Amino acid sequence: MIPFYKLERYEGNEALFELVMMSIVSSYVGEPLHIHAEGLRGTGKTTIMRAARGILPTIERIRGCIYNCDPTAPHCPHHKNLSAEEIAAIGAEVIPMPFLEISHSAKVGTVAGSIDLARLTDPTHPEAQLLPGLIPQAHRGIIFIDEINRLADTSPEITDILLDVMGNKPGHIQIEEAGLPVVEIPVNVSVWAASNPDEDPGPLEEIRRQLSDRFDMVCYMGRPDSLDVLSSMLEENSHFHRVRQAHKAEMAEVDEKKNDQYRNDIINWAAQYEKTDLPDFLRNFIARLYIKHNLESIRAIEAMQQGAVLHSVLKNRDKVMITDVTYMIPLVLKHRVDGDTLVRMINDVDSRGSKDSILSFKNKNKKDEENPDYFQQTARPLKDMHRGELVHTEKTLTPGDY
Ligand SMILES: [Zn+2]
Repeated sequence: MIPFYKLERYEGNEALFELVMMSIVSSYVGEPLHIHAEGLRGTGKTTIMRAARGILPTIERIRGCIYNCDPTAPHCPHHKNLSAEEIAAIGAEVIPMPFLEISHSAKVGTVAGSIDLARLTDPTHPEAQLLPGLIPQAHRGIIFIDEINRLADTSPEITDILLDVMGNKPGHIQIEEAGLPVVEIPVNVSVWAASNPDEDPGPLEEIRRQLSDRFDMVCYMGRPDSLDVLSSMLEENSHFHRVRQAHKAEMAEVDEKKNDQYRNDIINWAAQYEKTDLPDFLRNFIARLYIKHNLESIRAIEAMQQGAVLHSVLKNRDKVMITDVTYMIPLVLKHRVDGDTLVRMINDVDSRGSKDSILSFKNKNKKDEENPDYFQQTARPLKDMHRGELVHTEKTLTPGDY
């Protein structure tokens, strides 16, 4: 697998690189950010997501706790009722932030949990206990699901589990097994998904709208359309392959150094994220978008707020700007509103410069309230707007169509 830093970046996939980083930073401070990459085969969406595993920072957990209990906030059935002294006596250990994958043929027991057969059949000390599944084991980390549209189509039970896990931040999961008491535990897991909406069974929002809405952000991946990018991708692939064969150990060291740089950045950004809040006038701005465009999904505007702050942190800015909010609009709304509404919204916020927007929200709130159509007077008419400016659809990604 090509390491994260060597993956080619171009206009069509830049947003996914950012979302992946934003989600890792957010997960690191205990606030999940669920992201979904849609795109055709060969756009590299799963490659980017899987390669991100290599740059994950470490977390500290109670020694040997398969539920990844934070020593300062234990949550699992074994540790949640222990005193600080008892936990200190068990000790702690450092592990990589979990990154686990659910395949679209996974079973409920594997995903949520099942009875621990090894313990039950232990000849010296048989005991009925639950073995947590992939989701509880990914607590404080990431769950990756490729082809989520297929999973939602064929596995309604697992879809229901995901709805619970992604319902709140933190979410929760129930582990049930006949004859044992039901265990319900909180889980802080960021769900990353990928799918190709142009293939069977179609886009996730048409299969299970509720699950689609649980994703904070969706980005549609573009294909590389420049010759430069394509030829350097080819070169990278072949160069990578040859160099790898020749200097395996040497390259591993270089890769690890680069990964450490990412890890450092992530830890610094996470510290900054914990200190940064959205200014009131931007919160007000988001609230107005919600009301004016009749958005319905509170999750959408929560994601807009979380995303805007994370985006400003990644850009190493000390405060959040209106452009951080407007950058989020297509990512947060593509899967939640119809195309016309999205076009109207982008027209609203695009038609005025960002400086303008800040001033008007700082100073013209009153005027704005008296005149609810304030935006529309300056909006570009819909017919002047190229859909490709907002959402990358398959057509706009084919260079010949321009
Ligand atoms: Zn524990």
